[in-house]
Amino acid sequence: MESFKHGGYFILFSALCTPFLVNIVSYQRLLMFFIIGLASTVFIDFDHFLLEYMNTGKISKLWDAAKQPLRTLTDPEYLELSTTEEQRMRAHLLIILTLTALTVPYFVLGTIVIVKQILTVVLVSILFHICLDVYSDREEVEKFRDYLRTE
Ligand SMILES: [Zn+2]
Repeated sequence: MESFKHGGYFILFSALCTPFLVNIVSYQRLLMFFIIGLASTVFIDFDHFLLEYMNTGKISKLWDAAKQPLRTLTDPEYLELSTTEEQRMRAHLLIILTLTALTVPYFVLGTIVIVKQILTVVLVSILFHICLDVYSDREEVEKFRDYLRTE
């Protein structure tokens, strides 16, 4: 799924969550969480360009993406990549597992509530992104499931 569509669905998701969250956190914090979540769910797709670099050894597409981030996010045809859906899914899962592993100690030991809330927003946003990717291409998920079975 294209990054800008992830952003659109995240806005819808946020709108649905807002009535439940307004009683828990302030409006300012809610706006901050929305911006952090939107950025997390949209910009995680930049891992595709790291994958492209790992696939081809050429850094040019990573630079092109960095130079024109808006076009990269809105025009899926702009940079033709050699990465497969399976590689992208694995990269997303690796990122969320790494982030979870790094943040669990803070969830257990940390005392600053805002940090826990931001970490939660980032993890939920990335998980939301992965769920959309899974939903948008179920055929690729079947292949991924077969891959997991053979491992
Ligand atoms: Zn994705």
